[in-house]
Amino acid sequence: MCRHIAYLGRPRSLASLVLEPPSALLVQSYAPRRQRHGTVNADGWGVGWWAPDRAEPARWRAATPLWGSASFASVAPAVTSSCVLAAVRSATVGMPVDETAAAPFTDGRWLISHNGRVDRAVLTPAPGAESVCDSAQLAALVLDRGVDALGDVVVEVGTADPAARLNLLAADGTRLLATTWGDTLSVLELDEGTVLASEPYDDDPRWTDVPDRHLVTVTPDGTTLEALQ
Ligand code: GLN
Repeated sequence: MCRHIAYLGRPRSLASLVLEPPSALLVQSYAPRRQRHGTVNADGWGVGWWAPDRAEPARWRAATPLWGSASFASVAPAVTSSCVLAAVRSATVGMPVDETAAAPFTDGRWLISHNGRVDRAVLTPAPGAESVCDSAQLAALVLDRGVDALGDVVVEVGTADPAARLNLLAADGTRLLATTWGDTLSVLELDEGTVLASEPYDDDPRWTDVPDRHLVTVTPDGTTLEALQ
């Protein structure tokens, strides 16, 4: 089970979200605190973000552990963004381990990440999948259906594959959407913005846990939760 994080708010550096907090994604790549499936997330990583005045997100992915990227560690403090989505990966057995299988996946407008696993046989094939990896196929299906249908897609896929774990995270530069379906997700609402993460990156008492089987929507106006059924 991978770990992921997204942020929407006033510009913050990539490092302040992904590398610097005491239990940031960097630490979660080798010592996650709440991970129930898998022990380390060493099969790749990816960070996507929006730069000012650019509609399309920028993306940096790799098939190697996040802790080994001195180049990203050097660049991350110098890049700020108002919308970021990042993930570290523990590949599901049988899935390829290459850069194209590392989240976030994109259609050029949205970024999507998936914590979990799903039987690819229950997924309607969608054009544009970036990899045969289950998460890439699921992301392509969500993009094909339209990300506004994220909750419906998760319920449909979760019903077709009762063993599926479907924690998804999506961002388009102006809002974040997330689902809980079999794994943890926490929210941190700060004055400068909102963070969604598989697990808290520090011990700030303002982190709250999202109940299972929920859809979370974050906009500049606030955060809402909706039960999935
Ligand atoms: N099934 C996905 C993969 O193989 C995600 C795995 C995970 O959440 N650990 O990459």
